[in-house]
Amino acid sequence: MMAATVVPPEILLVNADPQARHDILSLLEPSGKQILVAKDGREALQLLGKHPVRLVVTDVELGRLDGWQLTRLLRSGVLKPPANIPVVVLSDTHSERIAQVTASEFEVNHFISFDERIRLAEVVAELLAEQAGPPPKPSLLVVEDFPDTVEFVRRVLGKGFDIEEATDGEAGLAAWQAGRHDLVLLDLMLPRLTGAEVLREIIRLNPRQPVVIMTAYPDAEKAGHLMLDGAADFIPKPFKAGQLRRVCSIAARREDYLVSNHQFTRNQKELIQAKQAAEAANEAKSEFLAVMSHEIRTPMNAIIGMGDLLLETPLSQEQQHYLNVMQSAGNTLLDLINGLLDLSRIESGEFTLESSNFSLPQILAEILDVLSLGAESKGLEMVHRIDPAVPVWLRGDCQRLRQILFNLLGNAVKFTEQGEVCVEVVRDPQDSEAEASCRLLFTVSDTGIGIPDEKKKMIFRPFTQVDSSICRRYGGSGLGLAVVQQMAELMGGEVRLESTFGQGSRFFVSLPFQEGVAAGSMPSKAATVAPVAPSSLPKKATSLRILLAEDSVDNVLLVRIYLKNSLHNLTVVGNGKDAVEAYIAGDFDLVLMDIQMPVMDGYQATREIRRWEVENNRPATPVIALTAYALAEDTQRASDAGCSAHLAKPMRKQTFLDTIDTVVGEERSSCQNT
Ligand code: ADP
Repeated sequence: MMAATVVPPEILLVNADPQARHDILSLLEPSGKQILVAKDGREALQLLGKHPVRLVVTDVELGRLDGWQLTRLLRSGVLKPPANIPVVVLSDTHSERIAQVTASEFEVNHFISFDERIRLAEVVAELLAEQAGPPPKPSLLVVEDFPDTVEFVRRVLGKGFDIEEATDGEAGLAAWQAGRHDLVLLDLMLPRLTGAEVLREIIRLNPRQPVVIMTAYPDAEKAGHLMLDGAADFIPKPFKAGQLRRVCSIAARREDYLVSNHQFTRNQKELIQAKQAAEAANEAKSEFLAVMSHEIRTPMNAIIGMGDLLLETPLSQEQQHYLNVMQSAGNTLLDLINGLLDLSRIESGEFTLESSNFSLPQILAEILDVLSLGAESKGLEMVHRIDPAVPVWLRGDCQRLRQILFNLLGNAVKFTEQGEVCVEVVRDPQDSEAEASCRLLFTVSDTGIGIPDEKKKMIFRPFTQVDSSICRRYGGSGLGLAVVQQMAELMGGEVRLESTFGQGSRFFVSLPFQEGVAAGSMPSKAATVAPVAPSSLPKKATSLRILLAEDSVDNVLLVRIYLKNSLHNLTVVGNGKDAVEAYIAGDFDLVLMDIQMPVMDGYQATREIRRWEVENNRPATPVIALTAYALAEDTQRASDAGCSAHLAKPMRKQTFLDTIDTVVGEERSSCQNT
């Protein structure tokens, strides 16, 4: 016959009331501990004399010997269990406060009132665990081929973990299979098997194994994929001691990890899918906008250009009115397209800032020049003031600055019926930047209709206007301020607004620049979003031989008409290849190069022309790129291909002629200088 295994009793329960005993036993039984029961103090002493129990749960009322006295006897060490045996007093009480004080007097570990007996199991488990001493160290398998990292891990985690090492993927997997590990710390770049392969194999065999990945990849998306493969966490290299300790101790707490990792994996999976879908949609949107803007801009070029020409012919008043409306609608449409393009570029992170030296007074003068026409027609005064402390030459993205100021000043004129519009530039009093940089504060104020308080935040959102009714008085797309704000933020600046409804508005834009150096000429020759002011160079009454490469018949006609009153000679070809051939065969002063052309595009043709010039020791002839694309990147591409300037379609007659004058003028002056 086999002897029954004797499990030593661990808990002594002392209580005189059978019902209470029953209740307490049912609370403690789930713990699986062996429990001795005594009905009074005397019985308790007998049992304690025989058995080295580990914990006592007693009532106060026990007949002749009460629970307090029993505790005192235990603490005296005369009984079998050690004097520091934990004692819990569980009893009905009139005053919990008095009971607590008494409990501490008699060195009772815990007093629990009977009403709160539900806490008993937890308290007992805690006391027994404390008594059992610290748990064994969790085991950690480090799979890493770089000795310095292993050494670092040993130094940081050696106290808290039993550490085993493996220096390649195969050895790591073998070590993992041979033992039980509370945590695996796995490098990604390993000889023999990669960390990702080891991870997949471990998780295939035991999906519950916590694995922390060490990775030199800083990007969270890669790490996210490893988490989907089952990693508990990742830690980017180089890591700090505190970071390593924190990540490993959380991951080694298996139960917590299991719950949270399941949840996390599910959430992460959904998040990654949602992110991918959103990115794809956003890319499609940007692509769509870029293509549409090109498609819309090309015919717009002809429409607005022809409209300009029509305005120069004799018209009845009625016809002139219709044409003005048409031109105004065309310009609004263009603004809308430009705004949409800017926003989509900003959102997709494709918006790049450029930096060049520019003269602030010149930029301001150009903008005011253009807007003063509208202001004058309303009888508004336009005032500008630049504080003497502001450097004349700045370095930064002048095109964006131009766009921001143009939008704000344009709005100021639009929403003001009488009084003045003012722009003021000072060094930002908040400027705390390094010496070479200078933060400027632009204030654009007007005496116009003002903006109600409740609309002040909203108007910076796309497509929102104070008056959104169908019959609203002022036109516009509601995109201008959204672009202004996002652009300013992208430049490291900010926009604020103060306004009193009915009295006027004041927009503050703070933007960082560097102090610049005087440039020989204006940095941007591109006529993109903001209009370029008329060139200050004297108009030349000379005749130029111009080669136009353009496949659209409408646009060829437009250029012909623009040049009708000039002395220039125009040669037209329909694609890039013909342009290169014509250029080599002829002797041209200027090339107007469309970008989108069949057979060979304008970028390629310009590159070929530049190559031929170098090979044949010829000076570079000005090439003006004509393109429907209006983005800064396109300007850059054109300039990279060797173009001297860039004209965005639809091009206005004056801008077209001015740009020709500018590039040819520069060409001449640089020839004279050399
Ligand atoms: P848009 O002018 O094309 O409508 P914006 O984004 O530039 O778009 O401006 C949004 C709205 O903010 C305007 O429609 C107008 O209601 C209000 N707003 C902007 N600037 C001013 C201003 N200076 N005075 C009064 N209202 C303004």
